Amino acid sequence: MTTAPIYLTTTIPYVNAKPHLGHALELVQADVLARHYRRRGHPVRFQTGTDDNSLKNVLAADAAGVGVQEFVDANAEAFVALAGPLSLSVDDVIRTSSDPRHRAGVERLWQACASAGDLYRRHYEGLYCVGCEAFYAADELSSGLCPEHGVRPQRVAEENWFFRLSRYAGRLRDEITAGRLRIEPAGRRNEVLAFIAGGLADFSVSRSTERAHGWGIPVPGDPGQVIYVWWDALGNYLTALGYGSDEANLARWWTGASRRVHLLGKGVLRFHAVYWPAMLASAGLRLPTDIIVHDYLTVEGRKISKSGGASVDPAALAGEYGTDAIRWWLLRDVPRIGDADFTRERLVHKANDELAHGIGNLVNRVVAMIGKYRDGVVPPDREHAPVSVGRAGHRAPAAIDAALAVGDFRQATAAVWAIAEEANRYISQARPWLLARAERDGDQEAGRQLDAVLAALVGICRQLADELKPFLPDAAARIARQTTALDGVLPPAQPVFARQESNPAASATFSASASCNEL
Ligand SMILES: [Zn+2]
Repeated sequence: MTTAPIYLTTTIPYVNAKPHLGHALELVQADVLARHYRRRGHPVRFQTGTDDNSLKNVLAADAAGVGVQEFVDANAEAFVALAGPLSLSVDDVIRTSSDPRHRAGVERLWQACASAGDLYRRHYEGLYCVGCEAFYAADELSSGLCPEHGVRPQRVAEENWFFRLSRYAGRLRDEITAGRLRIEPAGRRNEVLAFIAGGLADFSVSRSTERAHGWGIPVPGDPGQVIYVWWDALGNYLTALGYGSDEANLARWWTGASRRVHLLGKGVLRFHAVYWPAMLASAGLRLPTDIIVHDYLTVEGRKISKSGGASVDPAALAGEYGTDAIRWWLLRDVPRIGDADFTRERLVHKANDELAHGIGNLVNRVVAMIGKYRDGVVPPDREHAPVSVGRAGHRAPAAIDAALAVGDFRQATAAVWAIAEEANRYISQARPWLLARAERDGDQEAGRQLDAVLAALVGICRQLADELKPFLPDAAARIARQTTALDGVLPPAQPVFARQESNPAASATFSASASCNEL
C-alpha cells in the first residue's frame, strides 16, 4: 500500500452571500475523500477557503451599504463555520483577501509565468459577465445571455494583460488523454478535450484597477491593473501550501503528493481543467492529477440562488435534522451525473428509511439481543452459524475504493448500505429469538447457534461502524460505542439515529426507532 501524501481541495466560493446547500455538497464530498484516504494510510491535506477578491463581493457589499472587508469577513466566517455542523475534517482554510500566504504566492505565480514569456499586454474588447467573472464569446451566449446567470453581459473595452493559453493546447490534450490529468466523470473529460480541440485563445488575466474598484491584488510592476480574480483564486491551491513563502511545505504537499485532487462544480470546469493546468505548466510546476466534477443541486425544483429565491442554509438544516441526515442525503441521493433536487421530504425519507430504520434498527436489535440473551456479553466466535453471512462486508472495501476513485459517492454508500441490508436479512433468516427459545427449552445446539449468530452480527455492526467512518463520522462513533464492551459488557441498547419528523418543529428527538417486536 502506498502511503504518499494526498492533497485535496474544494473550490473557494466567492463570499457575496452566505453558504448554500451546493457548497455543502462539495465540502462533504471532499471530506469523505479526505477521511477515506486517511483511513487507507495516506497523509492527507484537505483544504478549503474563500475567494474574497471577486468584483461580485464588492458589488454585493456596496448594495448592502457595508465596507468590502467587513462584508467578506462576515460571510467568510459563515463558510468557515460549516465545519462544525457538517463534521468536516478540514486541515487548512485560506482566505484570499487576508491570508498573508496568498498575495506573495499569487505575485510569484505571475512572475513565473511572465518569466516564461506567457504574459503580454494588449487592447481588448469583450462581453463580460460579472456573475462568472469571465469574458464570453458571442457564440457562447444563449440568446445573448450568460448561460450560467441568464443576464446580459457587459461590453468591456480596455488594455489588459493576457496569458498565452494557446501555447499549452498540445500539452493539456496529452496530459488528459494519457490519464495523467484525470477528469471524472468521463463526459466532463470529453467536454474539456472538445474545448481544447476547438482551439485555445489567450485569455485576459488583469482588469483596470478602476473597474475592479481598487479591490484585488495589483499586477506586479503595473499598479494600474489588478490581477484577474480567477488567476488570484486558482492560485490559492498553491499559495496555501507555501508557494512563495514555505518551499518545504510546498514540496511535501504539491510536488511530492501522489495525488493532487480538485473537487469542483461543472460551472467552473474550464477554469480548473484548462486555465489552471496551463498556468502551472507555464510556471514550471506539476499539474493536478484528478479533477472531480459534480453537477448542481436544485431546491424544490428551483435553481439555487444566493440572492433570494431558492436557498437552504446548510448550518440551519443540520440544526433541524442533524449532521448525519444531511451528509447521508448528499452522499446517498445525489447522483454522480445529473442535477439533483433537494426537498426536506427526500432528506427525511432517506434518513428514516436507511439510517433510523435500516442501520439504526440493526444495531439496536443486535445490542438488545446480546443484552437480553447473553447479559451484554458478546459470545466468542463459534463455527455453528445456521446461515452464512458477510458477503456484503467482504466486498465493501474494494467497492468503496473503486467508487471513490471516480467520485461516485452514491455507489460508495451503496456498498455500506448493502452490509446493513444483508445483516437485516440474516436476522430474519437465522431467527435468533427462536434459537433463544429452544435454548431455554434445553437445546444446547440451539444455544451454540445463537452464540454464532450474535457474534456474527456484532462483527457486522462493528464493520459498519468502521466503513461508515468516512461518510458519517458521528454515527460511526456512536455505533462503535454501542458495540464496544466496557468491562466485558456492551452498553445498554440506545437508538443511534433520531427518527426524523417531516416537520422538524415536532422535534427530532431520539425516539425509540428500533422496533424490537421479534424480541
Ligand atoms: Zn455569468
